[in-house]
Amino acid sequence: MRIVLLGAPGSGKGTQSKLLIEKYKIPQISTGDLLRAAVVAGSDLGRKAKSAMDAGQLVSDDVVLGMIQERLSKPDARAGFILDGFPRNIPQAQALDAMLARLSQPLQLALLVDVDTEVLMKRITGRRTCSNAACGAIYNIYFSAPKAPGKCDKCGSILAHRSDDNENTVRSRLQVYEQQTAPLVSYYKAQGKLRTVRGTGSVNEIFKNVTDIIEVQMRPLAAAMSAAQAAAAKSAPPKPAKPAKAPAKAAAKPAAKPAAKKPAAKKPAAKKPAPKKKPAPKSKKKAVKKAAPKKAKKAAPKKKSAPKAKKKK
Ligand SMILES: [Zn+2]
Repeated sequence: MRIVLLGAPGSGKGTQSKLLIEKYKIPQISTGDLLRAAVVAGSDLGRKAKSAMDAGQLVSDDVVLGMIQERLSKPDARAGFILDGFPRNIPQAQALDAMLARLSQPLQLALLVDVDTEVLMKRITGRRTCSNAACGAIYNIYFSAPKAPGKCDKCGSILAHRSDDNENTVRSRLQVYEQQTAPLVSYYKAQGKLRTVRGTGSVNEIFKNVTDIIEVQMRPLAAAMSAAQAAAAKSAPPKPAKPAKAPAKAAAKPAAKPAAKKPAAKKPAAKKPAPKKKPAPKSKKKAVKKAAPKKAKKAAPKKKSAPKAKKKK
């Protein structure tokens, strides 16, 4: 499963992401974590990131994409990944698509965890944290208030309210998010990859809806694609197309798909043993950089035509 997660701060997508990781055994790729790790490791990309950050600038998209690509080459990402925090805008989404296309690992799902703004406001502005670092209990004055106002149930310490969790700051944060994400939602919708799950209710209820989307909508789609590829390949040697009852292999589910894909198109040469790091990464990054703006120009007219094609709502 190759998933991009979209959701506002406070939407709970982080929690859903953790559950997805456990269920599907795929890593979450968080660009924040990648950046920190690369800086600590002092890798080539890490040094570039650090010099940008030290100068108070944003780390460039090509550095971030380079890090994501490196991360995807690790074995644990073979069965898929969850991208969180990237992309944040259309050029990034296009550059990501281009990179994943080169790896023959296109995204399968853009999952939006949708929560009303007013609920998000309460979730964030109502948050209170125990000031005792050893305790760290978290409350919400609207949804899970402490028994005594301002005091921790567990240790009696004072509850702290983060200064940047005040109403004005949060509202503008949410507005920024909205402005960034709305175009991405349209972008993935036009690709037929967007699914929306309501981010209200219990964590388990939400997760049930998430897995329904994956099992009911995305898996059959992926299977249909494999089947089509297999049918195309049928002209050649007829193979027992359904590895349905692979008995000994408990982990056969994910294994079955790549197997079915291979004979069809030999694209899945995806995992070339990374000749990535050695050849001067500079040239590669430039390539990414150049590619992105070009596509951005092309995509503008595309977007206009997309809604026509997809009038259903
Ligand atoms: Zn406490």
